[in-house]
Amino acid sequence: MVQFIDLKTQYARLKSSIDANIAEVLDGGQYILGPAVTRFESELSDYLNVKHTISVSSGTDAIFMPLLAMELTPADAVFVPSFTYTATAEAILLAHATPVFVDVDPATFNIDPESLREQIAAVRRDGKLTPRALIAVDLFGQPADYHALNAIARAEGLFVIGDAAQSIGGKSGNAMIGSLTDCTATSFYPSKPLGCYGDGGAIMTDDDKLADVMRSVRAHGQGSHRYDVVRVGINGRMDSIQAAVLSAKLEVFEDELVARERVARIYDERLASVVTVPARVENSRSAWAQYTIQADDRDGLQKSLAARQIPSMIFYACPMHLQPAYEMHGGGRGSLPVSELMSARVLSLPMNPYLGDDEVHAICDGILAHFG
Ligand SMILES: *Cc1c(COP(=O)(O)O)cnc(C)c1O
Repeated sequence: MVQFIDLKTQYARLKSSIDANIAEVLDGGQYILGPAVTRFESELSDYLNVKHTISVSSGTDAIFMPLLAMELTPADAVFVPSFTYTATAEAILLAHATPVFVDVDPATFNIDPESLREQIAAVRRDGKLTPRALIAVDLFGQPADYHALNAIARAEGLFVIGDAAQSIGGKSGNAMIGSLTDCTATSFYPSKPLGCYGDGGAIMTDDDKLADVMRSVRAHGQGSHRYDVVRVGINGRMDSIQAAVLSAKLEVFEDELVARERVARIYDERLASVVTVPARVENSRSAWAQYTIQADDRDGLQKSLAARQIPSMIFYACPMHLQPAYEMHGGGRGSLPVSELMSARVLSLPMNPYLGDDEVHAICDGILAHFG
């Protein structure tokens, strides 16, 4: 049966290098941070063309840590798209700030700069919150419109965090995602485009001072020596074994991105006549964390695919402004219509670099058969 995400085939391909890298960590005797993590950090910095990579415990922590360092209060507003994974919104509340949900662009699923302008203006009019930061999410792998977003952020004095949990490897023009914002957070959760064998994440920045602060936050707010605590931090460290796995996977990552694009092209060509295929952001490269179509009777389509042994997933069935945990910070149903519509229409199809063309065509056959 077709695999939605295929980590076993990837391991079979990389077994010798992954096993060797892990063995080196086991022999070396340092199991948290240490040389394997330092090596991976410099490899990722080179790949992304950024000055600093700080490896951390998860993607969620990578979003949370820069917010924590800002020492925010409930009177501070952090703008975030409503159509995202819960971790993006959660980090804001854990950092004691108030999330302000923003609508998305139906073509790209990413934060809509026009809706952001409106929400900032509404917050300023209301006068209760101070706009402080923006978290832009590169949903499903394509970059958010950083050109427009950075311009708004500059004019409004907002700190910009990119949530690149799904988009590492993607590009905007010739610039790698990771180099486009004040700081970028990513996740190495196993099913992400670049995944490890546990939890992991990273923060990328060109700002020397911010990088130092992030290294301090990662180590419980440590100052110049281990028992000097200069700020509130967390245990945000990465395991050495995860870095060892990631170094091995980074070697074939570009090749895997090409394979993801091959799969996406087949879907594009065969499915555009029956469903809404994902619009491609001009002059960019997607990491294709997900290939997400839109359909009117999404639930009916998913059932009929399941009956044909074709796995599919719904990311995300409920926008954040309607989630029970966050709804008190949102405007209720109808307030962010595009996010609500996307939640009802999206369906993600099997996407991984190890899908054969024949498998992708069989999935397309199943979808076309559903539409008769
Ligand atoms: C996966 C994901 C996260 C969280 O990453 P973890 O490593 O699971 O903590 C955050 N944001 C988005 C958009 C994600 O897809």
